[in-house]
Amino acid sequence: MAADEVKTDIDLEEDGSNEGRNPPFQTAKGVHDILPPDHEYYTYIKKIVRHRCRQAGFRRITTPIFEYTEVFKRTVGEASDIVSKEMYTFEDKAGRSLTLKPEGTAPVCRAYIQHGMANLPQPVEFYYIEPFFRYERPQAGRYRQFWQFGFELIGETDPALDAQVILLAQRIYQDLGIADTLKLQINNIGDLASRKVYAEALKDYYYGKERYLSDEDKVRLQKNPLRILDSKNEDTIILNQSAPKFKDFISAESREYHEEVLMYLRDLKIEYNENENLVRGLDYYNQTVFEFYDEKKGGQNSVGGGGRFDGLIELLGGHPTPAIGFGMGLERVIAQMKRNKVRVPSKDDLHVFVAQLGKEAKRLCIPLIDQLRSKGIKAMGALGKPAIKNQLKIADRFKVPYCVLIGETEVREGKAIIRDMTVGSQVTVAFDKVVAELVKRIGEKSLDFYNPKDPV
Ligand code: ATP
Ligand code: MG
Repeated sequence: MAADEVKTDIDLEEDGSNEGRNPPFQTAKGVHDILPPDHEYYTYIKKIVRHRCRQAGFRRITTPIFEYTEVFKRTVGEASDIVSKEMYTFEDKAGRSLTLKPEGTAPVCRAYIQHGMANLPQPVEFYYIEPFFRYERPQAGRYRQFWQFGFELIGETDPALDAQVILLAQRIYQDLGIADTLKLQINNIGDLASRKVYAEALKDYYYGKERYLSDEDKVRLQKNPLRILDSKNEDTIILNQSAPKFKDFISAESREYHEEVLMYLRDLKIEYNENENLVRGLDYYNQTVFEFYDEKKGGQNSVGGGGRFDGLIELLGGHPTPAIGFGMGLERVIAQMKRNKVRVPSKDDLHVFVAQLGKEAKRLCIPLIDQLRSKGIKAMGALGKPAIKNQLKIADRFKVPYCVLIGETEVREGKAIIRDMTVGSQVTVAFDKVVAELVKRIGEKSLDFYNPKDPV
């Protein structure tokens, strides 16, 4: 079966089921293989985000796959979904509690402090492309290991920076061909002091209505009532509609800050919806929070989001340092691209297939394939298959534009046949002219050279 005929895990049924596939070993629940056709998307997205980030002065950072558990407990918040039920936490052999990272911001801030980056000119700007781990209920668009691209701008605060961060995210969605289907929603969740007052007002509102809350939301009511606004429980969502509104509690400064962010967004012609109930899933946010989502799609419709986290570095033991960031889930972006029929260029496409008949022909093929590749031609043969018919099946599967055929006659005469697979015509050329002829036909532009100077 051709690689691109395989149903990939990102094409799974809406309920995330694996129906019809039951070999003895499968991927663990909730995780997925990235098969070659989907890798084309990952590669393409990575290329775009790297380009956009570089243009804007962001530099790549990679933190380890696991951190001390405390890094997340302290920052993401005990009452958040992530810390309360989604972390993959384990003890190492010396009894240290470690956690596979469920999100990228806290580790980046830990690294910023650990490596003394407060001493660099501020802001310091990072981006990352990494897998994350959350013990979630698997569904389409919701996995236990998923990839996220994210960027963080640490060390400064200004509404203009918030707008620029949103603009960068928007430009990336545009490059990916999905901006038209995504809506930006934005909110301001104020500073810590006004959030405390608001939390008390929310408590007063929900007390006496506990019977409508899920068990989870009852715990949130005690630990962090703002989290209830992010609930996915239907009764709670209805209840939330009449809950006290944050805009009546935030300070005049926060209100002004928010208005300024919105002004810049209008200047930039970025459409937005203000959503007073948008609090985001992590406790460390303050002031601006935002999310990009597909209005028309139910289920996992948040394709990315971010916000300001001015208190996070201090929570991790650093000096108070303002910061803002954004993250998007690659699987959800890919699903969105597929829904929008965005096609990505395939760099894996082969140029030439070399078919041979007989041992002498095979001896010529190995160096020929090597020479073709050194000229930038993507070439392969099927040297393990004696019958031409079976070899050509492989050529067919890879949809190569050119085949080189070397049979016993060609070996004797020092020639080879070049067949143009798109039009079905063929020519016989002297063996030592094969490479030059193919380079000419394929064209300089399509050749694929590894250039160590190319950015990776
Ligand atoms: P959701 O509300 O969908 O649970 P979240 O608020 O937990 O999302 P964030 O922590 O903000 O998500 O992560 C940023 C992005 O990462 C999300 O917008 C989404 O695109 C993606 N994402 C989050 N969790 C998952 C997951 N379990 N599987 C795949 N992608 C995910
Ligand atoms: Mg979540």
